[in-house]
Amino acid sequence: MTSNDTLRIDDLPVRDELRGKSPYGAPQLDVPVQLNTNENPYPLPEPLVARIAERVAEAARGLNRYPDRDAIELRTELAAYLTRTGKHRVGVENVWAANGSNEVLQQLLQTFGGPGRTAIGFEPSYSMHALIARGTGTGWISGPRNEDFTIDVAAAAQAIAENTPDVVFITSPNNPTGTAVEADTVLALYEAAQAARPSMVVVDEAYVEFSHRDSLLPLLEGRPNLVVSRTMSKAFGAAGLRLGYLAAHQAVVDAVQLVRLPYHLSAVTQATALAALEHTDTLLGYVEQLKVERDRLVTELRALGCEVTESDANFVQFGRFADTHGAWQRILDRGVLVRDNGVPGWLRVTAGTPEENDAFLDAVRELMKEQK
Ligand code: PMP
Repeated sequence: MTSNDTLRIDDLPVRDELRGKSPYGAPQLDVPVQLNTNENPYPLPEPLVARIAERVAEAARGLNRYPDRDAIELRTELAAYLTRTGKHRVGVENVWAANGSNEVLQQLLQTFGGPGRTAIGFEPSYSMHALIARGTGTGWISGPRNEDFTIDVAAAAQAIAENTPDVVFITSPNNPTGTAVEADTVLALYEAAQAARPSMVVVDEAYVEFSHRDSLLPLLEGRPNLVVSRTMSKAFGAAGLRLGYLAAHQAVVDAVQLVRLPYHLSAVTQATALAALEHTDTLLGYVEQLKVERDRLVTELRALGCEVTESDANFVQFGRFADTHGAWQRILDRGVLVRDNGVPGWLRVTAGTPEENDAFLDAVRELMKEQK
């Protein structure tokens, strides 16, 4: 047996496309102010914690059995939430749920991507789209963006026409830039994608509750190849829960069931998510506070002399730094962890509590003084 020290991943017979690659790895550092992974800074309120304990205790009494494989009660409540907030009627048959929207996206690529197929995203965007593509054997195409990080419709449509991808990712609001995508842009890219192959268009709305604009859910009407993906990780303050979901035509929901593992969503997860949905209004109240803090970060960063990208999310992209990683380190040296997403010149900060944001702004103020 070779010792643990000497055996490397590449010594194993791993798939060729995984050789020399690194896993997703936002640093999890133990520093006082953590504003690097777009989490909601507010812990769940105590009445909700108590309700989770109650519902999980109920679920625990039945843990000798497999969970509801189709998560009907949960999907019904998610559909009600989308219908109430999204200006579009969504039924239980239009909703599918999984362990985080990452798993939803993985199931979509397992269903509509895979070996011999390709997916496109407009970068910089959420790095997991490309990583999940790789993991599912789907070829990845990096599409363009404008200098201001909006999507150049003509260039994007051309990239779709030239590459004829099977799956098109549109992230709105986009991560890491915070940029919202206009409905007209999605419609134009949907048309381009249908003309090219036809292919699935996945709108990743992980941050939409923080947006100044409405959800793109109403675009689902009459567009069976469109999917909207959502999560409880951000607006519901439940990143640790791992609950993501999608809304789409019933046929899409039927299709992803071809690849989902049986009983993928545990009874504990379903019970916890249902408890959180009972407290939707309280949780959306925190979202309103975070939107105010997000807007404050934009204004104050500009006042400090930073360039800031317009944000519709719970984070803000700011810069520009000649030495991006050096700037990240200087902020970290002051006890504040932000994110270097590898976009040259730019860093990303998640909106935290007012106190955390003050600590961050103090750190940037010092940094900007040093840079003068
Ligand atoms: N989509 C986007 C754009 C994201 O930024 C994230 C999380 N950072 C996700 C999806 C995945 O979130 P989760 O798996 O927690 O639902």
